[in-house]
Amino acid sequence: SQQNPNISNSLENLLDTLSFQRSLLEPRRDNDNGSSKKRINCEGRNMAFGSGPKASHIGSECDERSVLERQTAVDEMLLPCIPQGGRLDEVAGLHEVKQCLKEALIMPPQYPQLFQGVVKAWTRILLYGPPGTGKTKLAKAIASELKCRFYCVSSASILSYWLGESEKLIRELFTKVRQQPGLSVIFFDEIDSLCRKRSSREDEHSRRVKTELLRQIESTDDDESSKVFILGATNCPWDLDTAFLRRFQRRIYVPLPDRETRLAIISGQFRNSPLQITDSDWMKLLDATEGYSGADLTHLTMAAAFQPIRDLQSSRFWKFTTDNKITPCSSETLGAMQYTLNKLPADRVVARDVEMSDFMKALETTPKTVSPETVQLYKEFSSSSH
Ligand code: ADP
Repeated sequence: SQQNPNISNSLENLLDTLSFQRSLLEPRRDNDNGSSKKRINCEGRNMAFGSGPKASHIGSECDERSVLERQTAVDEMLLPCIPQGGRLDEVAGLHEVKQCLKEALIMPPQYPQLFQGVVKAWTRILLYGPPGTGKTKLAKAIASELKCRFYCVSSASILSYWLGESEKLIRELFTKVRQQPGLSVIFFDEIDSLCRKRSSREDEHSRRVKTELLRQIESTDDDESSKVFILGATNCPWDLDTAFLRRFQRRIYVPLPDRETRLAIISGQFRNSPLQITDSDWMKLLDATEGYSGADLTHLTMAAAFQPIRDLQSSRFWKFTTDNKITPCSSETLGAMQYTLNKLPADRVVARDVEMSDFMKALETTPKTVSPETVQLYKEFSSSSH
């Protein structure tokens, strides 16, 4: 196998599948195999395991309504997404990740002659990293730049179907995608919901779904022309079953934004709104937002941008300055150019520019959501999984 990496890969895959399928036959252990120590809380949204509508229907026959519901779900899932994710250059930073996705998805159909012989295009990429770092945004942006079909699968919702239905849904998705001409991308958001490591809370339903998904992913190996590309995204890579983890040829870390990326995200949000910030204030702001995710920065800029509107509540009386901006005034005897808030002429009310003080207030109410300890978990995962 050292001489032939293809055989080595196939053997590894076969061993993975065997051990994964054997694990389905083993009695469940009551305690988790130590991985819980490393978990951040991804449980909330993954409650589909062992709960949800299907649990109460196990063994039931599908009635007409469920058949209809399933058909609608299948139809929806089997429709390629209409990309609304904006362009790739609207995703700030993440240069390495973008380059990798371009090499995997944009270049092969454009330059097929470059991807022959030894050079094979990647067909499965996993994006992992803290929540709010742009994984989904990136996937959607790629979708809108690609000249191929892009199917978005909400992993958590697949599990909410009846026993047997989720597997059918997965089968139908892959069958449909394989029948399409040209390249198709299946994007599994929150893939950890579907492909979790075994645990005592896992039920028969999710085991069967995992087996089916693994089978379908493997069947794309036989596809000579690499027509199916699988893109996964997760905030909890350590929760993924290793059988699935190994199927991704590239596992790419999507980190918290660095200084330059934070600047691009904040200023990008103010593309069309005035911002009065000096260079030294920018330095302070970028220092203060160290550790903020892209999503945190979006919330922060929203909070700062809202401050001028909130200020309108701060005074009972207002007047217009000579350059036609509104400013609070304290007079209780209203002059000709002074108004109470509800009497301000609406068409003349323009919010003032956002200033550094607005960001300072926003920083107090919008803390970062990813702790340094969590970042450390991703670093440990990255070094142990590569
Ligand atoms: P994830 O999938 O990693 O949890 P999302 O892609 O859903 O994160 O990002 C949430 C929001 O955060 C996005 O809609 C976007 O507004 C903002 N965001 C995150 N990262 C970036 C980035 N690199 N560039 C621009 N916006 C970003």
